[in-house]
Amino acid sequence: MSRFLSKQFKQLTMYEAGEQLGDRYLKLNANESPYPPSPLIKEVISSSHINQLKRYGDISYQALHEALANQVNLAVENVVLGAGADDVLDLIFRTYFQPGDTLLLPNITYPFYETYANSYGYQVAEMLVDDQLQIELSPYIESDEPCVIVNPNAPSGHFHPVSEIERVVQSNPDRLVIVDEAYIDFGGESVAPLVKKYDNLIVVQTFSKSRNLAGARIGYALAAPSLTEDLKKVRGTINPFYLSELQVLTALASLSDDAYFKQSTSQIMTTRDHFSHQLQAAGFYVLPSLTNFVLVKPRHISANDLYEGLKAQHILVRYYTKPVINDYVRISIGLDHDMTRLFDMMLTLDQENHTSVLASMDRKLA
Ligand SMILES: *Cc1c(COP(=O)(O)O)cnc(C)c1O
Repeated sequence: MSRFLSKQFKQLTMYEAGEQLGDRYLKLNANESPYPPSPLIKEVISSSHINQLKRYGDISYQALHEALANQVNLAVENVVLGAGADDVLDLIFRTYFQPGDTLLLPNITYPFYETYANSYGYQVAEMLVDDQLQIELSPYIESDEPCVIVNPNAPSGHFHPVSEIERVVQSNPDRLVIVDEAYIDFGGESVAPLVKKYDNLIVVQTFSKSRNLAGARIGYALAAPSLTEDLKKVRGTINPFYLSELQVLTALASLSDDAYFKQSTSQIMTTRDHFSHQLQAAGFYVLPSLTNFVLVKPRHISANDLYEGLKAQHILVRYYTKPVINDYVRISIGLDHDMTRLFDMMLTLDQENHTSVLASMDRKLA
């Protein structure tokens, strides 16, 4: 640390992303898609576009705002773009929060929020999930603090129907409700249409998960025009050219290929449901999921040993040391044949552990 570092950043803990250990590993730890992005992207990015990179693009990003508004059935004025959902969330927090403000969050959710709140000096009021990792929304209704609802939640997968979230939004029109829908395209129902009715709701979505574009960094918020106006104003003072023309072309091409989008998301849902049933039938505990991952508790082996055992076999899944979820591993959904290999491996590790525990009990008894 240098002596110049701003006081507010002295106590920071960095966000820990899923490990990146190279291509020799089957990577099922960051909720990335196993499928390539739409093949149309390669067609639209031509050498003339590369030449265009010498110019600044359209500062209003009009074409992409229109295409997105079209996609989600809202007006152009309801859309705010960003370089990934994290960037959009950063913009939202900078626009509406100050150090000392309190943010309502579930104790088990996307870890970005806590890291972010710590760096900017926001207080976090944690809502405790129950033993099924479900989030009870009534404390949100009773509180007047701004809140974040990740829906479906990560890493639990828990999904709230639109009507439940609407009750939170309705309960206090002067409190901001941020709904993070990073996983909404895997079987959930979006609350985005509600932004026409409520001006205290911001919905955040991303191209990273369901459009197979984590590396492209494209995300967006949907909200009432009064809110998007604030957000654009703040953006304009910080970094007005926040998306490269390559990101814009990529996003446009992806949006124009609806058939591919539907096909790859539905394939992931099919694989997920099959994998979950297989695990359940083998005695693993699997939380219901409307996302591209599942949270799984093994039967005989600890979650940490399962994570280590899989890693030794070059399969990466996510293990969290945080209590409540340290009994589970989070597994992103990959290709069918990879999930079959993983399932066999999980079964073997779980069974081996069971056998060795029984053997040591036998020795003690003898
Ligand atoms: C992946 C993820 C994000 C971030 O998405 P990017 O667009 O890649 O920045 C935000 N929220 C949740 C819940 C996520 O899982």
